[in-house]
Amino acid sequence: MKRTLESLDPAAIEGKRALVRVDFNCPIKDGVVTDATRIRAALPTIKYLRDRGARVVLLSHLGRPKSGPDPRYSMQPVVRELERLLGAPVVFLPDPASEAAATATRRLPRGGVALGENTRFYPGEERNDPALAERFAALGDFYVNDAFGSAHRAHASTEAVARILKPAVSGFLMQQELRYLGEALHHPARPFVAVLGGAKISGKIDLIEALLPRVDAILLGGAMACTFFRAMGLETGTSLVEEDRLDMARQLMAKAGDKLVLPGGAVIAQRLEPGAETRAVRRDAIPPGWAMYDIDPATEHAFAERIRGAGTVVWNGPMGVFETPPFDHGTLAVAHAMAAATAGGATTVIGGGDSAAAVAQAGLTDRISHVSTGGGASLEFLEGKPLPGVAALDEA
Ligand code: ADP
Ligand code: MG
Repeated sequence: MKRTLESLDPAAIEGKRALVRVDFNCPIKDGVVTDATRIRAALPTIKYLRDRGARVVLLSHLGRPKSGPDPRYSMQPVVRELERLLGAPVVFLPDPASEAAATATRRLPRGGVALGENTRFYPGEERNDPALAERFAALGDFYVNDAFGSAHRAHASTEAVARILKPAVSGFLMQQELRYLGEALHHPARPFVAVLGGAKISGKIDLIEALLPRVDAILLGGAMACTFFRAMGLETGTSLVEEDRLDMARQLMAKAGDKLVLPGGAVIAQRLEPGAETRAVRRDAIPPGWAMYDIDPATEHAFAERIRGAGTVVWNGPMGVFETPPFDHGTLAVAHAMAAATAGGATTVIGGGDSAAAVAQAGLTDRISHVSTGGGASLEFLEGKPLPGVAALDEA
């Protein structure tokens, strides 16, 4: 267990500068944040600190700036959105690695908030440079990591800084992510069902391998299923198939036995377009020239039934090309089944950016036990890999 924010004595917070690594990597268009989900997710930690008289200094990355400062990736739009959400002014630190920034943090009033410019404007960030981490550490008297979505990267603001600035504790979002993902993985209510989809098995092999010994079933959809179909010797038409993974797919099937549940049929089309002619066929009846873009209704029902009967469900990756209706049908069916399972008392967890987007699109986010804010981080956690940003925090 990692040391938490609540474990800190009030005297260790009051008047002190809390350096908080958040994940404010939000979509921005024309200088305006278009989805503030990630900012909202960090508000409980920020509020807790402000209420206890801390001076809150926030750091985050934004996008992938290639070489140094780039106005397209400036945090300034986030400053404005955060001010709106907090109803309080936020001091912008244009160069958080500077002496001037450290001075500005000391001038913050109790309960005051500052946000630094994009940490990835510094080449040392992604190199986990201890010298840059020293500069960041000068912005606070203790460290809080609430950036679960960045915890799988050992960067100066997530890893090296936590080894310098002590105490180094987890924020509320971080705790919530670790609790739900950890419970699902280590103490699942049974049956424990994983639903996996998405484009490529190459990115999910470690996940399948790691989940197999833990779960009661893996329901597999998405284009990944086509690689398994081909490995079984079936015709897959123009479906997305990873030819170089066929052996791997065969080995996984042999190892998994009954646990691996593949779609019995597919919704197919000749072109990936809204309004294109579609057919629902058995998996052994995909004609040449057609591609699988979704699971078929019979598979939807079978998957939904397994999900509704589960004690724990973890879902990563859409069942089809959900961006292009009607191929969103299977993905929406899984989303609704997960909401029903949650209502029936199951613990339901979604990791993966596209699956989370599909659930948000269906308006079901609030009916899932936990929708992870970290796509890559949740994947690595479920693969059983240690997250460097978590490992660097103090033990409780
Ligand atoms: P997540 O972000 O939830 O982890 P992935 O990134 O692995 O999911 O995969 C999402 C992508 O997989 C989506 O863009 C979706 O269109 C694509 N996909 C799913 N099923 C198919 C399919 N049958 N054919 C082609 N692409 C598919
Ligand atoms: Mg994705």
